[in-house]
Amino acid sequence: MKTIIEPFRVKVVEPIKMTTRAEREKYLQEAAYNLFLLRAENVIIDLLTDSGTAAMSAAQWSASIRGDESYAGSPSFYRFEETVRDIFGFKHVVPAHQGRAAERILFSTMCRRGSVVPNNTHFDTTRANIEYLGAEAVDLPVPEFYQPAVIHPFKGNMDAQALIDLIERVGADRIPLVMLTVTNNSGGGQPVSMANIREVKSICARYWLPLYLDACRFAENACFIKLREPGYANQSVKEIAREMFSHADGCTMSAKKDGLANIGGFLCTNDDQLAQQEKDLLILTEGFPTYGGLAGRDLEAIAVGLEEVLHEDYLQYRFASIRYLGEHIASAGVPIVQPPGGHAIYIDAHAMLPHIPLNQYPGQALAIELYREAGIRSCEIGSVMHAEKDPVTGEEIPAPMELVRLAIPHRVYTQSHIDYVIEAILDVYERRDSIPGVRIVSQPKFLRHFTARFEPIEFVGGPGVSEGLTAEVVLPDGRADATREVLLS
Ligand SMILES: *Cc1c(COP(=O)(O)O)cnc(C)c1O
Repeated sequence: MKTIIEPFRVKVVEPIKMTTRAEREKYLQEAAYNLFLLRAENVIIDLLTDSGTAAMSAAQWSASIRGDESYAGSPSFYRFEETVRDIFGFKHVVPAHQGRAAERILFSTMCRRGSVVPNNTHFDTTRANIEYLGAEAVDLPVPEFYQPAVIHPFKGNMDAQALIDLIERVGADRIPLVMLTVTNNSGGGQPVSMANIREVKSICARYWLPLYLDACRFAENACFIKLREPGYANQSVKEIAREMFSHADGCTMSAKKDGLANIGGFLCTNDDQLAQQEKDLLILTEGFPTYGGLAGRDLEAIAVGLEEVLHEDYLQYRFASIRYLGEHIASAGVPIVQPPGGHAIYIDAHAMLPHIPLNQYPGQALAIELYREAGIRSCEIGSVMHAEKDPVTGEEIPAPMELVRLAIPHRVYTQSHIDYVIEAILDVYERRDSIPGVRIVSQPKFLRHFTARFEPIEFVGGPGVSEGLTAEVVLPDGRADATREVLLS
């Protein structure tokens, strides 16, 4: 059989509300052009994230009914703990309400002002939690990572020599831990090879540094190792996952990703003293260590989800469906991060919209246009999310890549939904020259992409103004903004 079908049937359905372009224009204005501020019912296909959006299985729902809601010592916790130990292999398992809570607890116990945390690439909440403590988050991906069109089987790898150089430069005593994010979410959902995990571990061992995995998409990463790394073809994904964790001293996990649950997370460690400190802090903000901010039914759903996500038919189907989307738009000329990742397709918005300067956020502009065109919600992973400022001048530093992520929720959309997405992207691609940039009207101090307000920048003369001309920026209400001139190129 050539066609890889969805290895599940639909048991419960959720209707999708259809909207018109005029309605979507109004919704966009009401949401200040920030797709996080839309009402989800006004979205036709929601590819904002694969986080917490999975359709739970019948087995997960029935386990949820079994959930025991005892405050302390619930059997649901022990089932959860046993499953996590079986797959992840760490000594201590600390539940938390989601990944960022696990991150906050880990970094609060391990980092202080002036600490430096290396990672292949920090996810946005990871970076924010480190910076909030006055520590520094340093990204050390391999050089191929920043070249969207370059094909590499393990583009998520850490640059091992860059790690050594960093440790030598800042000193091992300033580095409380080294992290590897599997898969590397911020730049294409790209996997990390077992060889790289081993190499990073050996460097950590040389300097007595603990290695932690940001394990959100551990099953997808393990499946890529099986498919691409010599020597793993005949091992099960579960065995590969176990080996990945065997090289680490602990992990943080969002069960909203490869836990196939709608909420939840945890952190693990082999360090007894650290585990005690983590549990003490957990009680302060999350809850008692046998529930960590979760209901017993959530712990049950996660335990079942962690087993289901390792089913190889499922992972094979998931990769095939994501490749299908990527290959169809790429073959029509849409620039994407190659090769397609494990949970999403990332469009290279800078390459697609070269007429939009980086300080007018081409990624955000494209995400807005996909919603306007077809009610598709995607997520900017570029300068809006990156939000890096020069510490001396305070000037914004553009992100190394301007991406728009189309994340595929687990077990939610069918092939015809994806065909609709492909059509919409190709229509937008056809008229890409007419897409305007955006400016930020207001923004919070941390994680600004969630709540920042935007407005589109219309340029005088409209699209197609010849190269090298400057034009005045005109606000949507017709006022000219004399404070800023844009170079149209
Ligand atoms: C989602 C995610 C997190 C944070 O998890 P939440 O459950 O959203 O708090 C951390 N790291 C990575 C790589 C993620 O994808």
